[in-house]
Amino acid sequence: MGFIADSLNRIQPSATIAMATKARELRAQGRDIISLSAGEPDFETPQNIKDAAKRALDEGKTRYTDVDGIPELKAAIVAKFSRENGLTYRPSQVSVGTGGKQVLYNALLATLNPGDEVVIPAPCWVSYADIVLLGGGKPVFVATTIDDGFKLRPEALERAITPNTKWFLFNAPSNPTGAAYTRAELKALTDVLMKNSHVWVLTDDMYEHLLYDGLEFFTPAQVEPGLYERTLTMNGLSKAYCMTGWRLGYAAGPEALIKAMCKLQSQSTSNPSSITQWAAVEALNGPQDFIPRNNAKFVERRDLVVSMLNQAKGLKCPMPQGAFYVYPSCAGALGKTSAKGAMIKTDEDFVIALLDEEGVACVHGAAFAGSPAFRISYATSNELLKEACMRIQRFCGNLK
Ligand code: PMP
Ligand code: GLU
Repeated sequence: MGFIADSLNRIQPSATIAMATKARELRAQGRDIISLSAGEPDFETPQNIKDAAKRALDEGKTRYTDVDGIPELKAAIVAKFSRENGLTYRPSQVSVGTGGKQVLYNALLATLNPGDEVVIPAPCWVSYADIVLLGGGKPVFVATTIDDGFKLRPEALERAITPNTKWFLFNAPSNPTGAAYTRAELKALTDVLMKNSHVWVLTDDMYEHLLYDGLEFFTPAQVEPGLYERTLTMNGLSKAYCMTGWRLGYAAGPEALIKAMCKLQSQSTSNPSSITQWAAVEALNGPQDFIPRNNAKFVERRDLVVSMLNQAKGLKCPMPQGAFYVYPSCAGALGKTSAKGAMIKTDEDFVIALLDEEGVACVHGAAFAGSPAFRISYATSNELLKEACMRIQRFCGNLK
């Protein structure tokens, strides 16, 4: 349709959101659907955070705020970076937006010119490439392999960088693979970046706290202080704080970049919800003890799902160390036909037939630039996970 902007024709709707929506629609029609498609914890937002929001309402904190965040929240973010990441920022180096997604969007749209390349390890979160494309840039995927635990090799990063590379977009623990890096592994990547001084680093630390097996979290500017001047360290409250619907994300980096992001936001959404910002102050400054409690449940679910999926014919599911996703390969299912006669040629065929025939909603690997595979979010109850994995086993067992 000629009426729609060319820029919009460059992008796809978010596949994770599309699958979650489809699952909700089928359920509304009365179908028995288990949705493992959306990346969102099933845990409630902690009570102290909800109470802070109620207080903010009662105290009339209901007006416009500074576009990129109230001073109290910026102070809490500065303290968080110092306490948890050993990074020193001034409040003027901090930007707050309506979800991590908006912060990433601001950063990329505020910096990309036509032809600028963004190096993205793949598989990667669905939205990265589309935001880059919307901004007129060029996503450059660097493939990782299941045998490397989906971790980027330094030599692969080196090969992907060209004179046109503007950003390296890094995300660990990763959505969709759960891949996480040790300090030494991350240092090997930052060493490459130190040799390429024209490349800026956008690190999406959204899953920082969702890390298992005793692994410790590190962020690029922390392991390599030499990158501080060209790194945007982004994070948010959706995942670890169970606040997906509240919409709050933030980032810290060089002041000129932060100002440019604020300029863009001032002409789009203005400030994130004032109520949410006050809740976020409590989230960051308040007790953090629910995080390890939730993580213990995530580990139990992860182990259950990995074990059951590895018993499904044709699937191979590595054990991830972070986030709440597993990313099994379905290579062994391709070229087969399902019980109801669907030809499984791609991972998209696989997830569509699985939803049709067994009522389990997952997201196909092609959406994450990593085929043939699919993503399962295990942020749901053990009972539902067990039932879903049994259905997946049955579906795979029936493939001929
Ligand atoms: N980055 C990654 C890797 C994510 O998985 C998500 C959401 N699932 C986001 C950013 C954005 O999160 P939000 O906008 O909810 O803060
Ligand atoms: N990011 C989450 C996911 O990967 C939520 C949906 C979205 O924003 O993509 O499922």
